[in-house]
Amino acid sequence: FPRLRFAPSPTGSFHLGGLRTALFNHLLARKWGGKWLLRIEDTDQTRLVEGSVDEIRSGLEWAGLNYDEGPVVGGKYGPYFQSQRLDLYHSHTAELLKKDHAYRCFCNPAQLAEIRLRLVNNGSMAGYDRTCRTLEPEEVKHNLSLGKPHCIRLSTPDEPTPRFNDLVFGNPSPNPVPVDPIILKSDGYPTYHLANVVDDHAMEITHVLRGEEWLPSVPLHLTLYSAFGWEPPQFAHLPLLLNEDGSKMSKRTGVGAFVSEYREQGWEPETLLNWLVLAGWGGRRDPYGNQDLAKTPVYLSIDEDLIERFDLRNFTHRRSVLAPGLLAKLNRPHIHAKLSDPRERRKIVEKMLPIVKSHFPDSPNANYEFVEKALLALEHQLDKLGDFPSISGYLFQEPDYNDPAVVMAKKAVGSFDSTACLKRAQEELASLEDSQWTEPEIKRALDGIKQEVGGTKKLMSALRYALTGGKVCFSLQISAG
Ligand code: GLU
Repeated sequence: FPRLRFAPSPTGSFHLGGLRTALFNHLLARKWGGKWLLRIEDTDQTRLVEGSVDEIRSGLEWAGLNYDEGPVVGGKYGPYFQSQRLDLYHSHTAELLKKDHAYRCFCNPAQLAEIRLRLVNNGSMAGYDRTCRTLEPEEVKHNLSLGKPHCIRLSTPDEPTPRFNDLVFGNPSPNPVPVDPIILKSDGYPTYHLANVVDDHAMEITHVLRGEEWLPSVPLHLTLYSAFGWEPPQFAHLPLLLNEDGSKMSKRTGVGAFVSEYREQGWEPETLLNWLVLAGWGGRRDPYGNQDLAKTPVYLSIDEDLIERFDLRNFTHRRSVLAPGLLAKLNRPHIHAKLSDPRERRKIVEKMLPIVKSHFPDSPNANYEFVEKALLALEHQLDKLGDFPSISGYLFQEPDYNDPAVVMAKKAVGSFDSTACLKRAQEELASLEDSQWTEPEIKRALDGIKQEVGGTKKLMSALRYALTGGKVCFSLQISAG
């Protein structure tokens, strides 16, 4: 059975690249009838950020990516927090020490700095000179009895760098394995590399799908696998996500780089996944059959369409740019599909109602029925549901005619006498009986005066301005009432 994993480090906000990795793991596990798990790689105690784990978990839940094993849900390969697996890393390090594949290093920071300087002056890129690799057992014993702080280093063999086949990148030219890297730090915590390899093995992971930034670590990981005598998993690295200007969608600086931003702005999670899936799955073999998505947005369901179309062979390692404009285009079919489905619509209205109430606390229209109608009426103007309060204000409260934006909009009404025009419209509308407040009757009443007030366009823009304080309105496509 294929077993996959998403293994984020809780060191900051949940990044879009992380969500993409989780999505691809999810799709591949489901496609192959396998399982995927969430493993929290929290061994770098200095970089932990409080709240990160919750953000990752709730982000995955929001996106509908349900892992089979992991924190809270459990599973027989747990615990799923690396910080709770220290015994395992210690016993495996002991095994490497016994096999002479690792050794204790007692060099202190000052000695290490000196060594590094010497190496650099000699033109070497190595970070360490293996000083402690040749310590006599007696010396080691003595140091230990003194309680000298130390770390454990892997003895890397002087062999050509192992080559490997990556399911996305093919046969990349491998990065050299570092000289005797630390695998267990002096604080007793493992480094990323040791914990990652030990856990992928212990959790019986068959396929490692992760970001391109880990591609250079593969040779070191393979060295660890062979030191332990284990079969390595298959690797598949996903290309970096780029901003439109070609810069990295970096964890720290990118605009719109965090999952929480999309969530707060009111995008549909399915849209975000439909958009992200294009990153790495692009080109002529994309899941949308190479349609021009900007022209014809397509709706693909996550758990049927995407899984069905997902195929690692169609992957590209070209770095991917996510065009922000496409997100809004892809979102519309999702909004439409949801508002057309009574159950989904109810969920949306229920979520929107408190938001509307907080924006317009005194509005008599801030009720379920009205919000539902307003959503249906304005649907075509919404890039995302989060825009609803800002574009629907006039339905809930009278425009503020002194607001600079509203004053600007008045200019569009033009120089004709809009007061007289509005007065005539008001008279005509006032003469309608209650039962005549239907689209055809209203139209007839206003048609009668349009010549008198300077034509349909003038009449309409004056009415729009008076009713909405703006230039746009909506055409009522829902049944009257
Ligand atoms: N913990 C690593 C990260 O947060 C992931 C490493 C991996 O997937 O192997 O980027």
